[in-house]
Amino acid sequence: MEFVERAQHDRSAASQLFDDAGRAPLDVLKRVYGYSAFRGRQQEVVEHVAGGGDAVVLFPTGAGKSLCFQIPALCRPGLGIVVSPLIALMRDQVEALKQLGVNAAALNSSLTREEAIAVRRQIADGTLDLLYVTPERIVTDGFADLIGNARIALFAIDEAHCVSQWGHDFRPEYRTLGLLAERYPGVPRIALTATADPHTREDIIERLSLQGAEVFTTSFDRPNIAYEIVERDQPRQQLLRFLSRFRGSSGIVYCLSRAKVEDTAEWLNGQGIRALPYHAGMDRTLRDAHQDAFLKEESLCLVATVAFGMGIDKPDVRYVAHLDLPGSIEAYYQETGRAGRDGQPSEVWMAYGMADVLQRRRMIDEGGAGDDIKRIERGKLNALLAICETAGCRRQAILAHFGEAHPGRCGHCDTCLKPVETWDGTEAAIKALAAVYRTGERFGTGHVVDVLMGTVNEKTERFGHVDMPVFGAGKDLPARTWQSVFRQLLAAGLVSVDHTAFGAIKLEPEARAVFKRERQVLFRKDRPQTGKGARQAKSGSQRERADLAGSDLELFERLRAERFTIAKDLNVPPYVVFPDATLIALAKERPRSFDELLDIPGIGESKRERYGEAFLAVIDGYLEG
Ligand code: ADP
Ligand code: ZN
Repeated sequence: MEFVERAQHDRSAASQLFDDAGRAPLDVLKRVYGYSAFRGRQQEVVEHVAGGGDAVVLFPTGAGKSLCFQIPALCRPGLGIVVSPLIALMRDQVEALKQLGVNAAALNSSLTREEAIAVRRQIADGTLDLLYVTPERIVTDGFADLIGNARIALFAIDEAHCVSQWGHDFRPEYRTLGLLAERYPGVPRIALTATADPHTREDIIERLSLQGAEVFTTSFDRPNIAYEIVERDQPRQQLLRFLSRFRGSSGIVYCLSRAKVEDTAEWLNGQGIRALPYHAGMDRTLRDAHQDAFLKEESLCLVATVAFGMGIDKPDVRYVAHLDLPGSIEAYYQETGRAGRDGQPSEVWMAYGMADVLQRRRMIDEGGAGDDIKRIERGKLNALLAICETAGCRRQAILAHFGEAHPGRCGHCDTCLKPVETWDGTEAAIKALAAVYRTGERFGTGHVVDVLMGTVNEKTERFGHVDMPVFGAGKDLPARTWQSVFRQLLAAGLVSVDHTAFGAIKLEPEARAVFKRERQVLFRKDRPQTGKGARQAKSGSQRERADLAGSDLELFERLRAERFTIAKDLNVPPYVVFPDATLIALAKERPRSFDELLDIPGIGESKRERYGEAFLAVIDGYLEG
């Protein structure tokens, strides 16, 4: 209990603890964070930086990048300085660190004068462990003055992809961070990001003068995320079925337009699902209130445009749904990547149809970009389509796009869970392409399918299509299948859609080989719409915590209620008190003593002090009640 007594002093628990102790990384991991082992390459990074080396860390979301700079900062003497692009992100991290007994502060314009003075004093007397600052502030004279002669443990540059114009989060101020190398020679620097593409990585190294840094990368797979992509049929009903798996959890539903965001949120509320809208056109106060509710409530569906996401570190997002096709695989991966940061099972789902493709094409073609960029964007859209239409493992296809080999059959995507049958569609493809050609490449899929099906209507008659040999040539297959054939022809690059001609289907040069029977075409068989997703729908909490059942689940729910009460009192999000993984371990292990609590992942010494008693009481009450 020596630690506990010492922590009573006003110095931070972490600096107290390690002033005379060895400050070994594993010790910090255990005593401060309550984790028994490093994950993946964390230990290598931590040791490298703690030893004074520079590092570039490219790990996916949820891999545990924060520890990679926080622990070396706590192990090395002096103040750790963290550059972070968003005040919201800083606030969350500082709060989480305080809960761990680490003395952290954020320097931003929202500090009161008193707070600013306190920070200055703590820097001067060496009691501050970690200081978060914005990139624009760190290079100012005022900042240099604030730091004075204080010893600096390291600089961490979080969200380092902001330095690159390639990404979507470019922040010009990040470019000035190269100055840190000159101004503070000898202080280790670590840049971290979840963006892996080679361009961004080169930019980070060059712009931040990290040529001498060691680069750490890992697989970008997110094994706890399950992927599902469905053909859009009745989107709202499909969405409702998907959401029914997540009662008691929070998630995000992405829509393309603000109007659709509003409509969808309203509709979901009418269906008994608590949903709030979020988009850039909303009043600022309301938008912030909705974001805050999303962080603090435990069962909320946030319906949003892509304006929502950057700067949201909520670790327990259990699902992400797309009602519209994103613009690229990169965007899809980033948006879906907001699910399951905490490593717990999470699901992502998308419904898409031909109309999306048209809409996206229009957005690209009518956008202000130059021709080269437009060509790249069209290519990106087609790559995403190919993922939607693949009969193989989706995870494998996505990772392949990022240049990473995966053996496939992940067992955790819809195509793996329910393998898609394929059929030799060469004959069907020839008929479909012929129908496009014969009707003059002037019509959208709806009409061409009518022609194939031999549907007599005003349009087929007016254009004389009823007299053509292709009219009715496709009666052997249902109209649905023809729709699917066209989507797959599009994904395969055999046809394209021309939105300037009202979505007319055009033949691509590659179609010739099919006509000449030089190329076989395989199609995926569409699944019958059974009303269920790839997985059987279970009730929310069962699904989400598949490994909890019976009394464990009951106890978990009680612990969760306790966490909610505490979080509410403190006005912090529940996960700041404990992550779900900690509650799950508590429910399973059922510790009965203060000592046993330290064996639970996520309970270090500070959190045990703060919450140990309350949670032990819940366990006691449950076991004895
Ligand atoms: P990233 O910044 O890479 O997205 P975070 O640093 O937010 O990831 O970490 C994601 C989650 O994983 C957090 O809840 C964190 O506490 C947890 N975590 C990180 N490292 C470990 C570890 N070694 N053992 C257990 N949990 C860990
Ligand atoms: Zn798979």
